[in-house]
Amino acid sequence: MTQAPQKFDLLLKGGTLLDPGQGIHLLRDVAFSGGRVAEVAEHIAGDLALDVLDAKGKLVTPGLIDVHGHYYHGNGALSVDARRSALPAGVTTVVDAGSAGWANYGALRDYVAPASGLRMLAFLHIGAIGLVTSQVLKGELHDTRVIDVDRTAQHVLDNPGFAVGVKVRMFINSIAYWDAQQVLRQARAAADQSKTRLMVHVSNPPIPLPEILDVMGSGDVVTHVYNGNQEHILDAQGKVRPEVRAAMDRGVVMDVAHAGIHCDIGIVREALAQGFPPTTISTDIHHGPAERVLYQLNDLIGKFVALGLSLDDAVAATTASPAQILGLADEIGSLRVGMAGDAAVFDRDEGDHTWQDAAGNMVKGSLKLHTFATVRDGAVLWRRPE
Ligand SMILES: [Zn+2]
Repeated sequence: MTQAPQKFDLLLKGGTLLDPGQGIHLLRDVAFSGGRVAEVAEHIAGDLALDVLDAKGKLVTPGLIDVHGHYYHGNGALSVDARRSALPAGVTTVVDAGSAGWANYGALRDYVAPASGLRMLAFLHIGAIGLVTSQVLKGELHDTRVIDVDRTAQHVLDNPGFAVGVKVRMFINSIAYWDAQQVLRQARAAADQSKTRLMVHVSNPPIPLPEILDVMGSGDVVTHVYNGNQEHILDAQGKVRPEVRAAMDRGVVMDVAHAGIHCDIGIVREALAQGFPPTTISTDIHHGPAERVLYQLNDLIGKFVALGLSLDDAVAATTASPAQILGLADEIGSLRVGMAGDAAVFDRDEGDHTWQDAAGNMVKGSLKLHTFATVRDGAVLWRRPE
């Protein structure tokens, strides 16, 4: 007797699919073939697939998307190895946030990204060699000769599908305050010339936050939105500042970029209570000092649920929302049939969990997601060791 040929390469069977991009939070089987999502249904027979992963009792989501991390492994001491950090967190798409500029992104695109096995995109820093100068000079834009608007824009334009925008840090140590307005305008110009978007670090800026927000429009990204440093998003009475709310209303993306030092638990609580949720949750993962508490993206879902976001909203902020702001909503961030076969499978650890921030604030939560498997291009790329 001959067996029917298997029509699927991989089947995630028996799990609860949480896919905010298509409004699903239900028991669903998900099958992949040819690297894409082939079928999503209540029951898909196991013998139709070459490989079946038992997801009973587990949570299945689209592969997570980290829109702000430092993934240029080997380029200075800052960046992490995505394969060791993002992949075991259920992340399948990472965006390097300006570790490199126009003069040194080539090896990120040609060697680091392919070696990672993940989908890797990048914001190019407005400084020619990105954050390398920051590590040796304690600030990357003190000498503004490293800025070339035309070349930055051209390299972004020349790399569709890899370069997604321009990054600048409005950070008191990275730039002289008397140059800050000029540099911000140059970064704005490069983003406009490249027809992409601008990502601006707003933690501890050398100029007032409203002046920064003034140059930002729909689709641009405020990163480190909940930092607790000077010039944060709340006014003296603890209310979300009107300029910040106006920016959100006109479509400026509000991105977490946690980093350990850029996300204050008190600010998040106030912001959520006042109806100011994050558009995207990201890690800003990097090699920091030993005392810095950094969280991976699956842990940030748990932390934001502890802070009051629903699980559906936290997963949306790490899947459908980042896909949409990157212009990739037809490809990633959801498990609709035909989309990229990128998924994550988690165990729900429902117990007592404590999350902290750099200021020493704590928040207790009852959910932690432990990655069980990460699926990329329709195949299991990482699985938790037994
Ligand atoms: Zn960063």
